[in-house]
Amino acid sequence: MLINLKEILLLCENNGIAAGAFNTPNLECLNAVLDAAESLGVPVIISHAELHENVSRLSVIGPIMVEAAKKSSVPVCVHLDHCETISYMKEALEIGFTGVMYDGSTLPFEENLKNTKGAVRIARNFNCGVEAELGALASRESGHGNAGGPVYTDPDEALLFCSETGIDAFAPSFGTAHGIYKSKPMLDFERVRIIHEKTGLPLVMHGGSGVSDEDYRKGINNGLRKINYYTYMSHAGTLAVKEMLEKQDVTFFHDLAYAAEKAMFEDSLKAMKVFAGIN
Ligand SMILES: [Zn+2]
Repeated sequence: MLINLKEILLLCENNGIAAGAFNTPNLECLNAVLDAAESLGVPVIISHAELHENVSRLSVIGPIMVEAAKKSSVPVCVHLDHCETISYMKEALEIGFTGVMYDGSTLPFEENLKNTKGAVRIARNFNCGVEAELGALASRESGHGNAGGPVYTDPDEALLFCSETGIDAFAPSFGTAHGIYKSKPMLDFERVRIIHEKTGLPLVMHGGSGVSDEDYRKGINNGLRKINYYTYMSHAGTLAVKEMLEKQDVTFFHDLAYAAEKAMFEDSLKAMKVFAGIN
């Protein structure tokens, strides 16, 4: 069933778990993630990133995601990830997305605040929840590491930002980075705990794949309710394809696609188990 961002995060808050948020730029990802969530009976967030527009158009994949969510046996939120333009956000809302992350994190504080407020106002008309970010993560979804290091979010600024904007979920910067980790991330969970306590909002972890199970659990105990997980799942699909091509002569692309789907199912299943505290 399709539910909105606020509802799914409340469900997670009440159960002391986090929902995985997985990018689903193609059908293989979408099937893998929804099948995994259904086999475990856990709530899940499927996302489309504005950055993936060139490989997967929102106008094509968006309606498919919404339909698949409606038909699913588990609660599903269809979410727009890292949206930097309001017109793109409106397109997603018209399609039926139930969550959006407005990302003004690269803007000066005041401008980010003003734009986020505007995004919340628009999203409310569509019964859609809003996530926003403060403090810049090291790199975007393109997956090019954490070279510059993150700028950590200040808890007092976070409180001001969250109460002024009226957002439903907050993404603090506390040491994670997008893409493949080049060194072990140093995560500041004390900062997460303080921000969660001050804002009272469900918190979001970006750059969530490649973190240890122990760190996921620590984060969830300190208020993380949405964990964005994509790079490592997608890479598992790539490795499966590579292995298949090395072993045999493949004619049909659908055989490669299916091999990738199976590998991504296993990888996302493993992550969902940790996020939901299932052994
Ligand atoms: Zn992100």
